[in-house]
Amino acid sequence: MPGLFTAIYPVSIDLQAMNPRYSIAHDHELLVLLAGARIWKVTIVKDRFASINSWLMVFAMVFASWNADAVADTPGNELRVDGTRLNATMEHMKTFGMSDTGGSTRVAYSDENRVALSYLSALMLQSGLMPRIDVAGNLVARRKGTVAGLAPIVSGSHIDTVPNGGHYDGIVGVMAAIEVARTLFEAGHDLDHPLEIVVWSNEEGGKTGSRSYMGSVAERELGLLSLGDKTIGDGISFLGGYPDRLAENARNRGDISAYIELHIEQGAILDREGISIGVVEGIVGIKRWNITVDGFANHAGTTPMDQRQDALYVAALIVAEVRRIITAESGKQVATVGRLQVHPDVPNVIPGQVVFSLEIRDLDMDKVDQLFSRIRDSATALAETNDTTVGFDQYYESPAVITDERIKKIVNEAADILGLLSLHMPSGAGHDAQSMKHIAPLGMIFVPSKKGISHAPGEFTSEQQITDGANVLLQTIIALDALFD
Ligand SMILES: [Zn+2]
Repeated sequence: MPGLFTAIYPVSIDLQAMNPRYSIAHDHELLVLLAGARIWKVTIVKDRFASINSWLMVFAMVFASWNADAVADTPGNELRVDGTRLNATMEHMKTFGMSDTGGSTRVAYSDENRVALSYLSALMLQSGLMPRIDVAGNLVARRKGTVAGLAPIVSGSHIDTVPNGGHYDGIVGVMAAIEVARTLFEAGHDLDHPLEIVVWSNEEGGKTGSRSYMGSVAERELGLLSLGDKTIGDGISFLGGYPDRLAENARNRGDISAYIELHIEQGAILDREGISIGVVEGIVGIKRWNITVDGFANHAGTTPMDQRQDALYVAALIVAEVRRIITAESGKQVATVGRLQVHPDVPNVIPGQVVFSLEIRDLDMDKVDQLFSRIRDSATALAETNDTTVGFDQYYESPAVITDERIKKIVNEAADILGLLSLHMPSGAGHDAQSMKHIAPLGMIFVPSKKGISHAPGEFTSEQQITDGANVLLQTIIALDALFD
């Protein structure tokens, strides 16, 4: 109990210097002094200072502070987010770019994107965070830690969507992280580390914001058109960043104590199994090849079946072989042939050449290579038997990113504390988190996606699942604060 209300002084003072819990400094502030030298801040516009409303605000603040004191003693592992409030903010986010079909069109650098960021800035201020836009157009909000010299714990995700996408991809991670910060702030629960909540810019159009931390956004990318009507460079400026100063964003190992991102699964595993929490083992690596089968284009009516060099027939055999080889082995590897070009692509000509794509994904890049060499050997043999040739050209590689063992354990324990079922699983989709791989130990938490639908208006995660995910994020951040230097 803080004691008696003794005096109110209208003064201007740097509260941050007095108490790191307050990361917001304003010019005109009303300090409420209570016995025992406790200080609360009320921000009031000067000319309304004497109004009744202002005085009511002062008393409301005093009572709020008493309440805050009452819960400040709640042990960290008993803290819970306000699920109703969290889901109300999720609901409000839908209004920024709601499409005719009920989906979300809030592509990076659009008006909807920018207005949503201003809403989030206000929410961050209410949550005891000080927001700013960095040079890459990321919205970064910080709460001070109590131990000097520690690098921040960072949690974030994105709010940009694909055209006519969903209301949950990325957004769940952002809204939950802000709610976690608000919960900690209102409970008066200090962390040793600074806490930073980041809304990464342009995730869907190339992870520009998070990759600026890696220092890997090439200058030529700035001239490329984003998913909206602006170039990436113009888009960064539109959000308040400085595309010519991106280098300032580059982080080194040690600049971040730990990175944790909550995200929807975007697949159907958790939903199908009825499990609340995915403990992400890593983000799968991807390799892509173009495979070219060369045969001989000839007359479809006069060439007997046993004399054909049919490139499409061989390509079809190889496509079937890809599936056989990938599924013959246990594990979570996946492979896809998603594009196929037939030449000359005419109904009455035997296909002379087929070019098709092959993509293989797994957490283990060696396994990707082994599977590919099996496919290559088999494809070469099939081509030979059928009087054709086959060539392989790798044109894309995205290495796998493995999450930190300690963080996986913490997420697992956080789910246990909350009585939630969890499952270790890879992420088949890419995420901003992968940009942190050389900078900080990283972890990811998944919540279920109904029927695995994503990047579409039907994307859905229930209010309870979002609240559960946010509570796991809260417990994880508290535990990370205790574990990492
Ligand atoms: Zn996403």
